[in-house]
Amino acid sequence: MPELPEVETVRRTLAAEVVGRTFRGVTVRRRDVIATELDPAGGFSRVRGGAELVTPRPARVPKAALLVGDRVVDVLRRGKQLAMVGASGRAVAVHLGMSGQLLVAGAGERLKEASWGDAHDHVVWRLDDGGRLVFRDPRRFGGLKTSPSVEHLRNERWSALGPDALEATCEGLQERAGASARAVKAVLLDQTVLAGVGNIYADEALFRARVNPARLARELDREAWARLALHVRGVLVEAIRAGGSTLRDYTDARGHAGTFKASHAVYGRGGEPCLACGAVLESALLAQRTTVWCHACQPLR
Ligand SMILES: [Zn+2]
Repeated sequence: MPELPEVETVRRTLAAEVVGRTFRGVTVRRRDVIATELDPAGGFSRVRGGAELVTPRPARVPKAALLVGDRVVDVLRRGKQLAMVGASGRAVAVHLGMSGQLLVAGAGERLKEASWGDAHDHVVWRLDDGGRLVFRDPRRFGGLKTSPSVEHLRNERWSALGPDALEATCEGLQERAGASARAVKAVLLDQTVLAGVGNIYADEALFRARVNPARLARELDREAWARLALHVRGVLVEAIRAGGSTLRDYTDARGHAGTFKASHAVYGRGGEPCLACGAVLESALLAQRTTVWCHACQPLR
């Protein structure tokens, strides 16, 4: 699942392609990946695993709500969420979820092919320079949300998100999570505490900060929170520089994978030697996620 560095890489590569361009048209192949501000809260539930859900028939999405006829003036990010902003002030938030991609093809270029063809290209915009932008999402945990203004985007769509993880501070973490009886790993994954950190970068930041992931948040002292804030920011900045980590389904807006995977010290390395001390790295399920740490570098006491 893409985390902050991968989403920020998509933001930068997407902005380079679409800012200043006008959307000339859009084709919506799957209405249920879009939630407009007029839809029921949470958008239209998708039928999964054979569950029958009775939902009203969704209204057509007005093309202007998807920025057709609008010039793109900015691409914003908060945590793992993106938003394209039009000159009209309207915005379209994009959540990549597990497997979502935003891919741009220039005029006359073919979109990067998926092995399954275009069956999961749910929304396709046409740009005024002849290029195309596609929202592709085979697993459909991602989606688009329209907003009449950036203010609505921030106050409604993104209101539950905590501060962006690139701005993590010791004080902010302590204030939001310092009294929590949850494990510090669970707290770092909580998007209302800090927006943008997922399983990879939580484990990497905890290792760098020498904090055991199972420690209860309320047991951490100020110095530990300060190290965590520093290393959350540090690992995210390094990963952005590397274009994100190599993940299944993840590419930037031009179809390129990131290279930060080569720099993972603990994530995906359970049972291998710790790069700092040589001890065998531990691996266990914590906060419902596979968690890897070094018992020597990150003691529980
Ligand atoms: Zn170690």
